[in-house]
Amino acid sequence: MFFARLSSPKRFLLWSSVTAVALPCVYVGNASARYYYHHNALYRNQAQSHLVLPKFTTPTSQTRLLVFAPHCDDDILGCAGIIRETLQAGGFVRVVTITNGDGFRTAVQQQEKRFRVEPKDFVRFAEQRQQESIAALENLGLEKKNIAFLGYPDRGLLAIWNDHWSPKQPFTSRYTRCTQCPYPNAPRPSAVYCGESILEDVEAQLEAFRPTQVMVTHPSDDHGDHAAAAAFVQKAFRRVQQETRNRDWAATANLSFYLIHRGEWPPKNSTTLLPPPEMAPLDTEWRSLVLSPAETTKKRTSLAFHSTQLAMSGGFLTSFVRSNEIFGELKPFTVPVEESVQTRPDQKFGTVLLSPISDNLIRSLQGGGDIKAISAYRDAKQLHLKLEMRQSIARQIRYVVRLRAFDSKDHTTPRSITLFLNAVSALKASGISKRIQGNTIELDIPLSRLETRTGTLPQTIAISADTYLASLEIDKTGIRFMDF
Ligand SMILES: [Zn+2]
Repeated sequence: MFFARLSSPKRFLLWSSVTAVALPCVYVGNASARYYYHHNALYRNQAQSHLVLPKFTTPTSQTRLLVFAPHCDDDILGCAGIIRETLQAGGFVRVVTITNGDGFRTAVQQQEKRFRVEPKDFVRFAEQRQQESIAALENLGLEKKNIAFLGYPDRGLLAIWNDHWSPKQPFTSRYTRCTQCPYPNAPRPSAVYCGESILEDVEAQLEAFRPTQVMVTHPSDDHGDHAAAAAFVQKAFRRVQQETRNRDWAATANLSFYLIHRGEWPPKNSTTLLPPPEMAPLDTEWRSLVLSPAETTKKRTSLAFHSTQLAMSGGFLTSFVRSNEIFGELKPFTVPVEESVQTRPDQKFGTVLLSPISDNLIRSLQGGGDIKAISAYRDAKQLHLKLEMRQSIARQIRYVVRLRAFDSKDHTTPRSITLFLNAVSALKASGISKRIQGNTIELDIPLSRLETRTGTLPQTIAISADTYLASLEIDKTGIRFMDF
């Protein structure tokens, strides 16, 4: 109203003055936020520059290395050195790419040189990415027959894990518009886009190759496909280890994780790759494999074959070419059983996962949504969960917990159990109670809610938690497993 009463020249003058003051403020604010974060990241990286990781076991002629990559190029970024070293030592390698990277719109637009792109363009783009992947791996010495592309949808793996387990409710790719694999060279052409198919395919790859060492992306990787790939491979790995027919090889096989996306990581200022400083002291045991200069050169030349990716994010990709590669391991977690009611409350819980804290600006500012840990215990009737934040639970923050229960035959529900929590309203889900105290939320979940078929107790439960301020994501944990 005030503006309306002013004459045009005065209005223009006022707007110009406001803009002249506001724009620099926004710019300076943004710049200082970036400076604060970069400075902090640099400080944290320098603080851990003394960190010396234990050595990762050197590959031998006995090594059978199976690398799972969520997209074409992750195998090279995380594992080119160990692939090359295993082949040079006379060992065996197989690389299985779960998606063909067919959901990268900007890259497809650039490839097609037009803004409007169609589903068939994404499929054609994926075929090109497969060729790049094959050329990059052949450059390391791997034969084409040892490379597989499962053909699941790019940017769809997490949604499939969460909500599309059954072939009756397949996932539809926003890019290719497919609900099943359109690639004729997939091990199972026309595989339905659902959790059941991916798990079966991953299990089949493990059983056919009988690896001594399995690699997949870390569960705490920022990219949803990478976090979900970790969940599928972990679940399949545990499954094949339980089968008596795999006893001779699976019991001694090792599962390790490589990291690709995590905030501003990897830092640009060192020749040695170290884990993100905020993840280093948590629950992953990191090891380092030193690469020879020749192996580092091979990694660089292999990466050069991924021209569609280098055109989009070359600086990020080449930052993985270092004098070493790092791999992490996570210990399995069994849910403690409450032995007696006399046990002190703080002694009942076991730690399911530890999550990095204050590792980006939003998490630094919203401590009530900065997840620190998840812990659990159970008794005869209930599963008790505790979510711990860095600061007090806040009214404006939404907390989301997802649970997917599997029984001993790997039966699970079509959708995961999703609990939407906040500081004020009661839980809609029947039978589940919630208590908030300081920086923790505790949940009591009847075991009957976790049955996959009537009367069957779960054998393993996959859990993840996310926090949001309105629709803005604050934190997410990635998927971890709790054994019963
Ligand atoms: Zn990827």
